[in-house]
Amino acid sequence: MIEAFSIAELATKVQSGAVSATEVAHDVIARIERYNGRFNALVSVEPARILAQAAAVDQKRARGEALGALAGVPIAIKDAICTEGESTTAGSKILRGYAPPYDATVIAKLRKADALLTGKTNMDEFAMGSSNENSAYGSAKNPWDDTRTPGGSSGGSAAAVASRMALGALGSDTGGSIRQPASLTGTVGVKPTYGRVSRYGLIAFASSLDQIGPFATDVRGSARLLEVIAGHDGHDATSLNVPIDGYELACSASLKGLRVGVPEEYFAEGLSPDVEGSVRAALARLESDGCIITPIKLPHTRFAVATYYVIATAEASSNLARFDGVRYGLRVASPSLGEMYGATRDAGFGKEVKRRILLGTFVLSAGYYDAYYLRAQKMRTLIRRDFEEAFKKVDVIASPTAPTTAFKLGEKADDPLAMYLSDIYTLPASLAGVPALSVPCGADQGGMPIGLQLVAPPLQESRLFTFASAVERHYAPTLPTGVQ
Ligand code: GLN
Repeated sequence: MIEAFSIAELATKVQSGAVSATEVAHDVIARIERYNGRFNALVSVEPARILAQAAAVDQKRARGEALGALAGVPIAIKDAICTEGESTTAGSKILRGYAPPYDATVIAKLRKADALLTGKTNMDEFAMGSSNENSAYGSAKNPWDDTRTPGGSSGGSAAAVASRMALGALGSDTGGSIRQPASLTGTVGVKPTYGRVSRYGLIAFASSLDQIGPFATDVRGSARLLEVIAGHDGHDATSLNVPIDGYELACSASLKGLRVGVPEEYFAEGLSPDVEGSVRAALARLESDGCIITPIKLPHTRFAVATYYVIATAEASSNLARFDGVRYGLRVASPSLGEMYGATRDAGFGKEVKRRILLGTFVLSAGYYDAYYLRAQKMRTLIRRDFEEAFKKVDVIASPTAPTTAFKLGEKADDPLAMYLSDIYTLPASLAGVPALSVPCGADQGGMPIGLQLVAPPLQESRLFTFASAVERHYAPTLPTGVQ
């Protein structure tokens, strides 16, 4: 049933009583039973909780109370976001068995909007990765071809939405972890402006970059979800105290006369011809809708990968120090405290996480700090200025989201550098703190989805929704073959 609806359509049905939240819950549970074994998108599901939330929504309606914007809408949650009393492990063995005593702010907001939280989604351990292969639960699979990656790190959220085990999901994006999996699975994914959404209750990877954002089956659904989760929060000092725009309204605004910048650095070596072709065709359609396409330059793009992997690993090495076997999850019994820390971290963290902790510790160490960390911070400023300059001339920037469509599981697993390069187009917006979105714009010769990335100035998410809606009007993907 739910696969026939968008988020907005289903919410309307539940609000009016045409469909009950309990019917939705049963349908979701059946879909999870049917598809999750194949796609490994959800790593913890508690059917009784889904049914209890649905019953509460139906009772609220029966009492004559108005239902919220996400009434009865099934939303899957990345395993890095705290849900009270429910397993939250960030895809890591070190947090096995951890159930937080509180809800993240975004979760409290979803509950208030009467959403049905359907379970926790698979992810690369601590959000470090681009393929979901760094998960303690094994990789999630791409619903369009289960021998391929759904992307990462929020691959489970993307796969859950693409297979309609949920109509929306939350992910987190530090360097592309919402946009890249959205691109690879034919879904819409949004990384909000840094500070637009509270990070309270998000297990931290790199705190100056992390943002929570939505996945949805369509642009309007992602706009509605962002409208629900955005806003200032006293629990997160970096959350911005500015009003939330009408994102959903922005979906129907006109494009006429708006200026789209196309950065030449994003159409370079390594870009697949199918991806380039689809993105350029989508841009030509926007032009026929009345917007003005101009080439622009973002000259420091080529330094983004190196800059990101210094800053993100530095912050991660500090953030992950808290997983010491004392406070949460796994503890490996040892003769002394020092040995216990070491043994727990050795057993609990996977290979990529250890690599990043070592890298991050190195770039912060005395003697190397200036050469690596400080220079990376300076480069980050230059990358941000590239965007400031560009936005003097254009309203949004458009590019491919990822250089290729979904690659085979295992293809890049042993080559960290090749894996890091798949984030080449998403990292700059993260470093600049500006909002960005991926919207489906086509498919490659094998039928795998292609995403178009849009980037806007700080807090101008509305523009993303206006442009993405136009892209979607020309091209909306069907369900993956093999998913009904
Ligand atoms: N793939 C990038 C990394 O491995 C980005 C991950 C993310 O955004 N969480 O760090």
